[in-house]
Amino acid sequence: MRLVILGGGESGVGTAILGKKKGYEVFVSDFGKIKGNYKEVLIINGIAWEEEKHTEDLILNADVVMKSPGIPDKSPIVKKLIEKGIPVLSEMEFAAPFTDATIIGITGSNGKTTTTMLTHHLLKSAGLNVGLGGNIGKSFAWQVADNKYDSYVLELSSFQLDGILNFKPHIAIITNISPDHLDRYDYKYENYIDAKFRITMNQTEEDYLIYDADDEAITEWFKTHTTKAKLIPFSLTKTFSEGAYIKNNKMEISINHEEFTMDTEHIALEGKHNMKNAMAATSVAKLMQIRKSTIRESLSNFQGVEHRLEKVLKIQNVQYINDSKATNVNATFFALDSMNTPTVWIVGGVDKGNDYNELMSLVREKVKAIICLGVDNKKIIDVFGNVVDIMIEVSTMNDAVKMAQRLSEKGDTVLLSPACASFDLFESYEDRGKQFKQAVKNL
Ligand code: ADP
Repeated sequence: MRLVILGGGESGVGTAILGKKKGYEVFVSDFGKIKGNYKEVLIINGIAWEEEKHTEDLILNADVVMKSPGIPDKSPIVKKLIEKGIPVLSEMEFAAPFTDATIIGITGSNGKTTTTMLTHHLLKSAGLNVGLGGNIGKSFAWQVADNKYDSYVLELSSFQLDGILNFKPHIAIITNISPDHLDRYDYKYENYIDAKFRITMNQTEEDYLIYDADDEAITEWFKTHTTKAKLIPFSLTKTFSEGAYIKNNKMEISINHEEFTMDTEHIALEGKHNMKNAMAATSVAKLMQIRKSTIRESLSNFQGVEHRLEKVLKIQNVQYINDSKATNVNATFFALDSMNTPTVWIVGGVDKGNDYNELMSLVREKVKAIICLGVDNKKIIDVFGNVVDIMIEVSTMNDAVKMAQRLSEKGDTVLLSPACASFDLFESYEDRGKQFKQAVKNL
């Protein structure tokens, strides 16, 4: 069997290792350059590869293809493979049949990483032999090749779900759905929603789907579709006999006739959106029969993930918060919503078709000054120019932070939550967040 892998990154090289171990004839092809450390791994393992090209003769003879999630279906080589009827799979689809581990799959537009890390933390703290993979950390396929874990918590993007046929998580989470990546879905929101729901398409009556019951796209989908999985909804506003909700500042979870209650003030993560993430992760912990005391302790000591509403420093009683990962309006909505002091807001970058009006009432209520940090800030200025008193444009992170310090007073918060991608002025959202933290430390 010939396994061709498109993309020589973490998931590609991991799949190559697994394929080789399982007796496939493996070939890795990357249209860009393959990083040095991955090349070494391929060479040491005697795996054939090429870079900066796709040689059709070596690709179109595949029995099966694993494509890295970054490569769109529209790319010419993928189109040719599909025309020839060669299955083009994602890493999860290829790797899952080689493990008996329990799989927990987490998707959604926002909150995937936070929920994945928190779920992993809960299970690991309970002593389970649990791996972390998918969009984050080490490749799932690679870990399967090393036969490491009894269960896996996987962060799954819609692109990874596009490439599944039989893959089925025992427990699935859909954190929420809002428009994103529409360029890869023919600009049709319903295609993107359907892609997210692929996470449940192979689930059976023994499996579980945990989802945000406050989310419009999700509740609409259920009006016209079904799944066999047992449903576990979570909500900030509704209550359920089977599900998770917040009532009177308590998180209440009821699953399989067992109850779990915890004061939200003891949950280390802050903000409404994080209460949702906590409900989702705790529902998994309950399904995996983790002890209540362990769940409580883990929820109270999980400090969150870098670049997601990350508290950096308090200087002269002004709190600086790094939410560089907020690359869309929905994420920034929840960031602003969780502010409970006057806020100096640093926003801007590459806008993927944002409708800033969704933020209008929060901005009116909480934002005292806006610092635009992008190459083109026109849209932001047009929308909020008349809403806040102070609006300033800068083009470096240092200037943004210095300006924020000048504009803030004791008791305020300075929030970097850009609602935009970063690549006009930064290498990545991580680079943007790191520069922010450095600039704050330099104050
Ligand atoms: P993802 O992996 O889906 O991009 P992250 O956990 O990295 O999600 O969070 C991305 C951004 O979304 C951060 O700015 C974070 O504060 C915000 N966020 C986290 N959880 C949620 C949620 N449940 N709903 C909306 N926004 C969220």
